Amino acid sequence: MPTTAPPSPSATQLPDLSDTRIAFSQYTDRGLLRAYWLFRVIGMPWLSSVGGSLSKVALALHLPIKGFIKATIFKHFCGGETIAESMVTAQKLGDGGLGTILDYSVEGQEDDDTLDHTTEEILASIAMAAARTDIPFSVFKPSGISPTHLLTAVSQGSTLGADDAREWTLVQGRMERICAAAAAAGVPVLVDAEESWMQPAIDGLATRMMERFNRERAIVYNTVQHYRHDRLAYLKQAFAAAENGGYHLGVKLVRGAYMEKERAQAQQEGRPSPIHADKAAVDRDYDEALRFCAQRMHRMAVMVGTHNEQSTLLMARLMGEHGVPRNDKRVYFAQLLGMSDNISYNMAAAGYNVAKYVPYGPVREVLPYLIRRAAENTSARGQMGRELKFIVAERERRARTR
Ligand SMILES: Cc1cc2nc3c(=O)[nH]c(=O)nc-3n(C[C@H](O)[C@H](O)[C@H](O)COP(=O)(O)OP(=O)(O)OC[C@H]3O[C@@H](n4cnc5c(N)ncnc54)[C@H](O)[C@@H]3O)c2cc1C
Repeated sequence: MPTTAPPSPSATQLPDLSDTRIAFSQYTDRGLLRAYWLFRVIGMPWLSSVGGSLSKVALALHLPIKGFIKATIFKHFCGGETIAESMVTAQKLGDGGLGTILDYSVEGQEDDDTLDHTTEEILASIAMAAARTDIPFSVFKPSGISPTHLLTAVSQGSTLGADDAREWTLVQGRMERICAAAAAAGVPVLVDAEESWMQPAIDGLATRMMERFNRERAIVYNTVQHYRHDRLAYLKQAFAAAENGGYHLGVKLVRGAYMEKERAQAQQEGRPSPIHADKAAVDRDYDEALRFCAQRMHRMAVMVGTHNEQSTLLMARLMGEHGVPRNDKRVYFAQLLGMSDNISYNMAAAGYNVAKYVPYGPVREVLPYLIRRAAENTSARGQMGRELKFIVAERERRARTR
């Protein structure tokens, strides 16, 4: 006789991620048409790369293109220029059952004033999250609160000079303020992962924060990039450390955003690439990580940060198999604003926890982020086809049912 009842069919039935009616329920016909043209235009590789460079030059020259960018690509991929402006997007996502993760997306500034300002901005996003039920997480990029050369030097175990040592103390202080504020507000904080040459320093900071603030549940989440061939082993070690240390491991599982840069840097330095040789190996590790986590939820919390439908459905299935309720706060699915709405809205409609990264910041400062999104969506990559396919299907469905 089995000791436990088999899962009910409703517990194991997986959501249909291709239901475009649900996926685009928040879009008016006009909004859908705008998204269609946006993906058509940024799908042209030459236009994307020329457009990105031209925009940078035009903004630097104070040419009046900010309004155009703000009304088009910025409007699709960003919440607004400020937290207050982004609340319209948060409300809209909330109406569709999705959470918002405010992501201050200013990059590449290294002076102390900017790093302090970014810290204040992250603290403000935590305060906003504490005040609203539709903002379940906060997030930050470590390079937003630390000079990148310092993250690299600490990662390499270099001896720091007096100035750098002082600066590193400031960085640790910023990290502590953010995590302590997150813990006090009860708002989990995601630490984004960056290039491999900076990651050991970030892992060290995040682990120390987890040891302190994750005693009862996961408040601090570190990010694991599975395009790196050494990270499945890292995940397992991190879990063992959490078990030994008596704290909860918070992890955001991603594939990784810097593949070309990583490979080029490794080649330039004449060392082996830290990236898997092919996509199949990345997918295998990612899905193995999901299996590893699903079996260990007693001491873990997981954010499944992906636009990959197979991985999303695999985690949904694993949750059913391991008796993890769909709305269990220890498992969240997350996508970027403006991308993979078919996953986000269909998963939310099926009762899973879903949130969108909502980047915000001044248009000029967010431009590098937008250029990356455009590059990711050129026809040379897979994502553009995926986005357009669903938008076209929904436009056709609406035309048929009119
Ligand atoms: C909510 C959220 C948070 C994120 N946070 C981070 C973060 O903190 N740090 C970060 O680096 N990224 C982050 N990302 C981006 C993420 O790492 C991926 O770049 C992006 O999501 C695409 O991967 P995928 O799993 O969605 O989809 P897929 O389309 O299945 O995978 C594409 C990814 O596979 C890998 N890949 C593709 N081709 C190859 C190949 N030939 N060889 C080896 N690998 C290959 C690359 O990582 C590529 O990005 C985040 C994404 C989301 C949705």
